[in-house]
Amino acid sequence: MALIPAKETILVVDDSAFNLRMLENELQDRYRVLTARSGAEALSVIGRGQIPDLILLDVVMPDMDGYEVCRLLKGDPDTRDIPVIFITSMDGEDDEERGLLVGAIDYIRKPYSLSILRVRIQNHLELKRYRDILKKHSMIDGLTGIPNRRLLDETLDSEIRRARRARYPLGILMADIDFFKRYNDLYGHLEGDECLKAVAMSLQDTLLRPADFVARWGGEEFVCLLPEQDEEGVRFVAQALLEAIRELEMPHGDSPIGESVTISVGGTVARDDSLFLSGSELLKLADVALYEAKEQGRNRAVIRPASGKRELKDA
Ligand code: GH3
Ligand code: MG
Ligand code: MG
Repeated sequence: MALIPAKETILVVDDSAFNLRMLENELQDRYRVLTARSGAEALSVIGRGQIPDLILLDVVMPDMDGYEVCRLLKGDPDTRDIPVIFITSMDGEDDEERGLLVGAIDYIRKPYSLSILRVRIQNHLELKRYRDILKKHSMIDGLTGIPNRRLLDETLDSEIRRARRARYPLGILMADIDFFKRYNDLYGHLEGDECLKAVAMSLQDTLLRPADFVARWGGEEFVCLLPEQDEEGVRFVAQALLEAIRELEMPHGDSPIGESVTISVGGTVARDDSLFLSGSELLKLADVALYEAKEQGRNRAVIRPASGKRELKDA
């Protein structure tokens, strides 16, 4: 497995322009270096979606100090896994303890050796790469190789937050294979597994935008997240998914509705008010729509845009 990726990104946060330039010069041969002159600027760089692989953080800064920046980063699921190294002239044991307690992985006192700093950065980045790989493996479905429900839950929460911040709609589709129990009963469980794999691959191949996401949610159920898609776009993607599975033409000898394997799709689109629904509430709306698609005869999509808290209670 390749463990040396393209240039990793380091964010250096320091109120001194001199320190920033010095570290930037020192590190830019090997890393992509982002800089921020204050805690607020660091958070806004990250808020714009530039998620660094590691952060070098000064402690004493006007307005927000480094401890506070670190505390905020560690409290946010999108940023809590970024290793933070304090570089500071605060050299008391108490200061160091406080730095580690707010979640920093290392604490370096000034004056320090640049060559030792480089090695420490390298070591922490290597550990982070291993952690990322382990995390990724624990979030992949063993049968189909696509993301599992755990990764879906994480991704859904972070997409909801992103959609709220950027004020764009978020589409959610739930797809369920029609009469899959009969498929298993007719062809056996192993053939059933092959069918699940083929459906998973086909759904994944049909989603075209980089931010689109599909996970295996349960046995023969899949969930797609479609950021920045309005209702029309979500309906279009739902039809494309139905069509892609029909085109696989996998024989289903015991389906009452056709010769081959089909899916039903239920979906919702969250925007504005309805983006304040939780991930599980939005999934519930997609599931209710899926139930309707099944009731209406299967092999079709039903999309019900979410319209705020009230909708859920009425549903
Ligand atoms: P519907 O059209 O209403 O969705 O009917 P269905 O038969 O597809 O739905 P039901 O929920 O009754 O059955 C789902 C089946 O999916 C039952 C279960 O054996 C099968 N299944 C779940 N997980 C797996 C798996 O990992 N492999 C295989 N081969 N089958 C699975
Ligand atoms: Mg099902
Ligand atoms: Mg089913």
